[in-house]
Amino acid sequence: MERQGNIRISSENMMPIIKKWLYSEKDIFLREIVANASDAITKVIKLSQIGEAPQSEDYKITVTTDEKAGTLTVEDNGIGMTEEEVEKYITQIAFSGAADFVEKYEKAGGEGIIGHFGLGFYSAYMVSDSIEIFTKSYKEGSKGVRWESDGNSTYTVGDCDKQDRGTRIVMHIAKEEKEFLKEGTIRQLLHKYCAFMPYEIYLNPKSEAQLKKESKKDEEPAKNYPVNTPKPLYLKQPKDCTEEEYKAFYRETFSDYNEPLFWIHLNMEYPFRLKGILYFPKVKKQVELERGQVKLYCNQVFIADNIKEVIPEFLQLLNGVIDCPDIPLNVSRSFLQNDKQVQKISKHITKKVADKLVALFRDDREKFNNCWPDIATFVKFGCIKDDDFYGKVSDIIVFKNLAGEYMPVSGYLGEEITEEQAKEGKEPQAVYYVSDESKQAQYIKMFKDAGLDAILCDTYIDPHFISYLEYKNPKRVRFLRIDADVANALKEESSEDGDLKKIFETALEGKNVTIKTEKLKDASVPAVVNVSEFMRRMSEMNSFYMMGNGPQDVTLIVNTANPAVQALKDAQSEAQNTAANQIYLLALMNYKPLTSEELTAFTATSVALLEKYLKK
Ligand code: ADP
Repeated sequence: MERQGNIRISSENMMPIIKKWLYSEKDIFLREIVANASDAITKVIKLSQIGEAPQSEDYKITVTTDEKAGTLTVEDNGIGMTEEEVEKYITQIAFSGAADFVEKYEKAGGEGIIGHFGLGFYSAYMVSDSIEIFTKSYKEGSKGVRWESDGNSTYTVGDCDKQDRGTRIVMHIAKEEKEFLKEGTIRQLLHKYCAFMPYEIYLNPKSEAQLKKESKKDEEPAKNYPVNTPKPLYLKQPKDCTEEEYKAFYRETFSDYNEPLFWIHLNMEYPFRLKGILYFPKVKKQVELERGQVKLYCNQVFIADNIKEVIPEFLQLLNGVIDCPDIPLNVSRSFLQNDKQVQKISKHITKKVADKLVALFRDDREKFNNCWPDIATFVKFGCIKDDDFYGKVSDIIVFKNLAGEYMPVSGYLGEEITEEQAKEGKEPQAVYYVSDESKQAQYIKMFKDAGLDAILCDTYIDPHFISYLEYKNPKRVRFLRIDADVANALKEESSEDGDLKKIFETALEGKNVTIKTEKLKDASVPAVVNVSEFMRRMSEMNSFYMMGNGPQDVTLIVNTANPAVQALKDAQSEAQNTAANQIYLLALMNYKPLTSEELTAFTATSVALLEKYLKK
């Protein structure tokens, strides 16, 4: 006997809202339907454990696509439903659940609802003209039940001759949603949303007869393979996992055939439940931070990638899976942001990552150093983004020195200067850095010859990071590019030489250069160019913000220790002029590439000097 009924909630108003919201993500309907099937199996297993339902065969979920019939079917051998339960759970709860959802959604101002949970069964109407349910309860003597509705206002319910316990949901896919009839599409969606669901899921499995036909003699009989991994590695205890398993899990989950550098297995029960594995991937390009993928699961059901409220932004440069059953998922993002529990989870994950890095630094420095080029940008970015993280890892941040050894940056921080000292003009410890080894080769050589050190800061995040270090340690350190203040670093003693100064000032008149004379430790270099760190940073910032290059405050340090410079003093004024220009241009080209004008001038002075030299 078949009965008809009216759905009590006015669902005509709901559909447009739900459709609009789901527009970009309507494929989550499959997750909802398969998750229901999985829950139904969990329930029947629990009942059988307490003897309320018979112990059963293998539990599984089967998904079938039928392009000809236009149907997508999800079948489980779970708990099933009686007719009353169908009425209650589907006609009433599923539909009112959708109504609740719409209300919540409107309250949140149409903002994304994190878990997209709460829409459940009803979401299948996003892609279906009508849905049939065939179900049979685990209860003894239950009859099969068939329910059908177009999701708008009426439904029919009645008996059917379903033999096995469980539920079959048949979605009659709408014309404009035909892609959901394609096996390839469904396979992809199952991969995305159901990869770790706890029971085996089969997509269009072959029949027994088909399998028999395919089986060859002397070989293992052909069989169907599930599309998911019901027991993902992250659920195991860390002590029971092997290195090979971690690597294989990484390959399968992220389709990345580069081996990860190392990983962190998260496994905690208290004060909240959290399991997962975070992998540090090899960096493919140095120039840019590559976005990773941290997949968030709730009880093995995929929720979303890279939810920044739960997983701090900088950790999203890693690859990983996090399963956290305690996150309230059917709430809006702004709620998550202010949720204490979620903040604790986020802090915990950050702490674990910091702990792992510190342990690696402490226990296996060689491996740490080998990994450093791949993780440096990540660590520095994390520090800038998160003071707490900086607090935990500040002692393990390393820079290469001029000898090519990794040195902890903490060793470069000086004594804090007192207010008194500051008043007397004392500045925080100066640390010199190289930003481009080949361009700054001349300065590096001078530093090395003088037995001075500098650190190498050549990744694109370093300028920001050293500013951050100065900001965090304002009284202990200031960073100077190796060409910013050579005079101070390399001078043997101050040596004011008014005559020399005059010669250069006359020769370079009209150029925007300040002349200073110093006696440098290295006598072989006639002069070096200095540009103040402050002015250069300003100018770099301006060009970053497209405001053009600001003024460059160039100083030419003339080295009184150099024999050519000394000889210059006794030369004729014309020769002085040519030589001073030559010395200036030589110093300039060791600082930066010459402009075409400067290059022309350099050629002219060089030729003039050659002529003089050869004529003698
Ligand atoms: P939710 O899963 O959030 O409770 P749904 O709308 O998805 O909401 O489902 C409503 C109810 O219908 C479920 O709570 C469950 O009792 C019942 N149900 C749905 N699918 C199945 C199924 N495959 N087997 C048994 N019961 C089901």
